[in-house]
Amino acid sequence: MAEKKRNEELSKLRAEILDITLDIIAKAHKRMRLSEQIGTIKGTLNIEIEDEKVEQEVRRSVIELSHTLGIDPAFSGRLLNMLLMESIRLQQIQHKKIGNNPMVVTHLGVFMKAKELESSGKKIIHLEVGEPDYSPPKEIRRALIESYNKKRYHYTDSRGLLKLRQGIAKKVGHGIDHDEVIVTSGGRFALFSAILSILRPGEEVISIEPSWPAYREFVDFAGGKIKALGTTLENSWTPDTRQLEEMIGHHTKIIVLNYPNNPTGKILDKKDMTKIVSLAQENGLYVISDEVYSEYAFKGFTSLTHFEYDKGIVVSSFSKSCAMTGFRVGYGIADKEVISKMARIQAIALTSVAEPMQYAALSAIDYNPSANVKLIKKRLDLISDKLSNMSLDFIFPDGAMYVFPRLKGLIQNDSAIVKKLLDLGVAVAPGSGFGQDYTQFIRISACQPKKLLERGLDVINSVLFVH
Ligand code: PMP
Repeated sequence: MAEKKRNEELSKLRAEILDITLDIIAKAHKRMRLSEQIGTIKGTLNIEIEDEKVEQEVRRSVIELSHTLGIDPAFSGRLLNMLLMESIRLQQIQHKKIGNNPMVVTHLGVFMKAKELESSGKKIIHLEVGEPDYSPPKEIRRALIESYNKKRYHYTDSRGLLKLRQGIAKKVGHGIDHDEVIVTSGGRFALFSAILSILRPGEEVISIEPSWPAYREFVDFAGGKIKALGTTLENSWTPDTRQLEEMIGHHTKIIVLNYPNNPTGKILDKKDMTKIVSLAQENGLYVISDEVYSEYAFKGFTSLTHFEYDKGIVVSSFSKSCAMTGFRVGYGIADKEVISKMARIQAIALTSVAEPMQYAALSAIDYNPSANVKLIKKRLDLISDKLSNMSLDFIFPDGAMYVFPRLKGLIQNDSAIVKKLLDLGVAVAPGSGFGQDYTQFIRISACQPKKLLERGLDVINSVLFVH
């Protein structure tokens, strides 16, 4: 009898849950229709889709209600973020429908366009790409031939060859064990798999802008939300740690750092780095430090490995230090558990990095890149001199391979100037690709020989002069 009663109760509760679930879906549908209407109005008025202030107000109300009801605000926050992201997606569709398509041009977009022009016979000076123009270490040739002769061309452990992981661990130091290393298909896949491993849909990632656009793409793909902490040229691209502290909320999961920075060339002082790591520690956040340009540091650079932070993930690569972009070998260093999650993603997506490429990387592990670093520094000096002569504002890069000047209020929009330069045979990266507030900037890469750099900068000068 008691069992029958319990079964009846179970059915009743299940029916109630179904009702409520359908109710939630119907409400979500209503919310989506409202979002579309808002999108149409914003499109007509040509105002930006994302509005941080409005979002904050909604967020505050949701947190307040969560506290009143006794729901974990981290849960309701994640749910809210999913709804907000859907609103943004729908509003973007409405914007496009009315032909109001705020196209973000990235350096990759410019590169593709430049390649198209080249294939139709036009000569292009490539100042938009971050790909070294010099050769990789000679040792690689022997390593690749040996790989072939010794039949080293099979699948490997998805974390990478033990010898290579051991080599990386030794090179990085700080007592890192090979179990805390994963060899990935470029630094890019280390970043992607790290974000995918730890981020749940609706959770937030703080990224310091201007920044390499891929972080936003990774987070979007994982169903998370990017919170951009903007920095300014006036402040020498130094992030305001007080502002960072204010941005950390219930659903913040990761802070992404990239120093030496692409595109600004900034290196963070140890003091600021220490502050950021301690904020992460206090709030239980992961810190992903993208250090692919760490060899190209013209002043002291403190790696995140130095802090031995248990929620720290360091990413680096053979691409820039050894001019091995096409070999696709990078690596991640993290806690063993995170490494095994990243390895699972790599196993699902790619099985492993190609074995011959891992041997090539192993042969380059003790390579001394100082000649490359000197060359890049010399070119950055040249670019900086020329830009100073044009009276443009920028900070002299502390590292990496780029200069990020502001075009002096001469332009309203980077895409017009980027297009004009492309017509004249010079490809540069538009600032807006690194964050929406940087439409007055362009990124100039030092990955071309002196002669081409000079010629390209002369064209930039002539365009700015005519404007
Ligand atoms: N991080 C940054 C900041 C980069 O600029 C790049 C490449 N442009 C990468 C990571 C990834 O490089 P790779 O995948 O070739 O190692």
